[in-house]
Amino acid sequence: IEITSCRGLIFDKIIAKEIPSTIVYEDDKVLAFRDINPQAPVHILVIPKIRDGLTQLGKAEPRHAEVLGHLLFAAKLVAEKEGIVDGFRVVINNGPEACQSVYHLHLHVLGGRQLKWPPG
Ligand code: 5GP
Repeated sequence: IEITSCRGLIFDKIIAKEIPSTIVYEDDKVLAFRDINPQAPVHILVIPKIRDGLTQLGKAEPRHAEVLGHLLFAAKLVAEKEGIVDGFRVVINNGPEACQSVYHLHLHVLGGRQLKWPPG
């Protein structure tokens, strides 16, 4: 039995293009694609192409520092591409209490409407 929705494996399938997604940015290290269940007019996920143990931010090791910076810069490039660079939010849900559901680190890039603070 193949379990695709388990942990981070679903994003491996997106990276391998076995599951279709709408890619908005890609380079050698990261992939950005539209969230299947958008919470704002623009809702994009930015993920490392190689997980390397980075299931969530709370598990980051010193070796991950470079890709973490790369992901954040890619989020800015995505915001520019989407025309929301003057007002957007970057979110990382870490662990069950933050409602993380996919255990492959990802940045949410949200915008295109007035966002509320605190998010709840
Ligand atoms: P989390 O709750 O872990 O921070 O965010 C996971 C996100 O992945 C959710 O916003 C969810 O809608 C999105 N997601 C889950 N499965 C898929 C999928 O197969 N395709 C796309 N494009 N997004 C997905």
